[in-house]
Amino acid sequence: AAKSQGRGNFQFFSEAMNSATHERLMLENRLWQALEQNEFELYLQPQIELATQRIIGAEALLRWHHPELGMVGPDRFIPIAEESGLILPLGDWVLQRACTLLHAWRAPGLSHLRLAVNLSARQCHGPGLLPHLDRMLLSHGIDPALLELEITESAAMQDPERSRALLIELRSRGIKVAIDDFGTGYSSLSYLKLFEIDRIKIDRGFVKDIESDPNDAVIVAATIALAHSLGLEVIAEGVETEAQRDFLRAKQCDEAQGYLFARPMPVAQFEAMVRAAEVPA
Ligand code: C2E
Ligand code: MG
Ligand code: MG
Ligand code: MG
Repeated sequence: AAKSQGRGNFQFFSEAMNSATHERLMLENRLWQALEQNEFELYLQPQIELATQRIIGAEALLRWHHPELGMVGPDRFIPIAEESGLILPLGDWVLQRACTLLHAWRAPGLSHLRLAVNLSARQCHGPGLLPHLDRMLLSHGIDPALLELEITESAAMQDPERSRALLIELRSRGIKVAIDDFGTGYSSLSYLKLFEIDRIKIDRGFVKDIESDPNDAVIVAATIALAHSLGLEVIAEGVETEAQRDFLRAKQCDEAQGYLFARPMPVAQFEAMVRAAEVPA
């Protein structure tokens, strides 16, 4: 019985694997077309300054409107795009779209907004990023300080020397740099020593249990204090409750982002939200 059960399990496993491989292949094939057919959209999630409760900017989060599957989230296709190389043209598209938005925001009530864009490992380490950014910034005539690039520790640590050089180049242009998912890698502290950055984003994993896990509360408070003493700003990701927000504010965390304030949303909705909040109450 054990033998046949084992065999059954194996069969089940291999079928599951086949369908995973199948989905992967299907998505990969379709991804290239998706770029040509304009099936991608940037959603924006507001970032809030905790001291004032004002929206100070947004993070751009990629969405794919697949004609049959509906909305596909980035966790499902970014890894595939990264492996297949599509991330390079896709990443260029995201940057171009972000610069177009920043250009459009040179309007009353919107001109203070900062836009954060995620960079993948391959984008960071490829040769095309800086020339592309230079072209985009110049042709859109935007203030580089309103563009923030988010890099994860793991992406940067794939090639620390190169990342170091890239971050210096970015910051010499006045572009802001944030470390995404801070605390989840193996080298968070050496990161702070190695790299020139502006901001760290405390990972959702630490924020989630602030109320229930005293260790997480201590880690978050100490991380904020450490960052501040190094002259860095801090934003907390994944803030879902008022208690989390209040804790972060009490510990002087600069900014926050999360479902408590708003989910990622289409651009027009974000702009309407900012404009509505600008109206004096
Ligand atoms: P990330 O950069 O760490 O983005 C934060 C993720 O957390 C987003 O998921 C966001 O929707 C989600 N989130 C925000 N607030 C909350 C909250 O309060 N609770 C919970 N449970 N989740 C929250 P999303 O949009 O699915 O993106 C997932 C990841 O995909 C991103 O993680 C980022 O690594 C990657 N990604 C998204 N857009 C791009 C892009 O344009 N380029 C690259 N290279 N990666 C991207
Ligand atoms: Mg991010
Ligand atoms: Mg993150
Ligand atoms: Mg993440």
